[in-house]
Amino acid sequence: MKILVINCGSSSLKYQLISMEDESVIAKGLCERIGIDGSKLTHQPAGKDKVEIEKDMPTHQTAIELVMEALKHPDHGVIQNTDEISAIGHRVLHGGTTYSESVVVNDDVKRVIRECFDLGPLHNPANLMGIEACEAAMPGKANVAVWDTGFGMAMPEKAYMYAIPHEYYEKYGVRRYGFHGTSHMFVSGEAIKFGGLDPEKAKVIVCHLGNGASVSASIGGKCVDTSMGLTPLEGLIMGTRSGDVDPAVVQYICNKEGKDVNEVLNILNKKSGVLGMSGGVSSDFRDIEAAKSQGNHLAEVALEAFIYRVAKYIGAYTAAMNGVDAIAFTAGVGENDKASRKAICEYLGYLGVKIDDAANDVRGKMTVISAPDSRVKVMLIPTNEELAIARETKRLTE
Ligand code: ADP
Repeated sequence: MKILVINCGSSSLKYQLISMEDESVIAKGLCERIGIDGSKLTHQPAGKDKVEIEKDMPTHQTAIELVMEALKHPDHGVIQNTDEISAIGHRVLHGGTTYSESVVVNDDVKRVIRECFDLGPLHNPANLMGIEACEAAMPGKANVAVWDTGFGMAMPEKAYMYAIPHEYYEKYGVRRYGFHGTSHMFVSGEAIKFGGLDPEKAKVIVCHLGNGASVSASIGGKCVDTSMGLTPLEGLIMGTRSGDVDPAVVQYICNKEGKDVNEVLNILNKKSGVLGMSGGVSSDFRDIEAAKSQGNHLAEVALEAFIYRVAKYIGAYTAAMNGVDAIAFTAGVGENDKASRKAICEYLGYLGVKIDDAANDVRGKMTVISAPDSRVKVMLIPTNEELAIARETKRLTE
């Protein structure tokens, strides 16, 4: 069984063709600059050289058609014809309050994706375009929507309600949703399996630390809290996002700088985080670490604040669950940066967390990094959102 996984952005389309027998990637690639001059498809068949195809892609539909051609190509193709693809799984950002579970796409699903354009203005329109392009290119094949907000929908009301007038929830669905759901679902599930934990009761905290960053707490694989909110702006300090701030900061800057709310929100989303805190060094954590080691004080504070915020969330989520069995690190920083993992865990001595420095000296490989006598198991679990989407698609279409 082969499943095609699609992740559409407003001008990009990422894909992976996965063989479900051994969960291996048969081919993957990326269409860039869709609808813009200079569009390009980079196609990587497993075990063969990468190919770059420069061709006009005015729409997501033309992009999908080009992907199909690449997958079937006599030289760099990996399938004979489209019938070999059993179903298509799509990452969809926002399912609102209607959908939490992955679902086979029908008219109602498309209606909900459309209704949530306001909640995911950059992603939901692109996700719908990807689905419709696949429907046109491969008529009759099942398309499955896997929601980035899905995992967070299991949160109880006390965790997802904002303390603002209730009418805004009723009228507009203003609540905490949480994002990176596919990653949190995958990593918490793998942590339970790899750590030999009780699948019904395990209390797991997942730290997804990349350019975008979030923490989740789950019991038996069900989310009880997660750090992103109505939008991905809430929670941790990220590459360019501020995470938690007093909302009065927005008003104060608006008044002082003569900006409107949208401009300041744009600053909080795109010019803040470690980029903003470091005085503009970079949004990339490697650059921040390099600047810190050259004595840049602001970069040092940015990194310390990032780590401190993660540690605070772990403390809060341990309280929320009245305990924690395992902490899992994932995504760019979580998988590659042993110093950040260690620095975060140094705040957690009171929980009985002990890191094994030799075990922690690892990148991108599923590993227990805590010492045998650590009261909490700490793990590195590489995330794999594409595989998680493929598994969901298989489950729903077999
Ligand atoms: P996203 O998917 O949100 O763009 P990723 O999960 O790919 O983010 O993470 C990207 C981040 O991971 C970058 O800021 C990068 O600097 C960081 N990263 C990758 N490798 C390392 C490393 N060895 N040390 C520190 N940070 C790293």
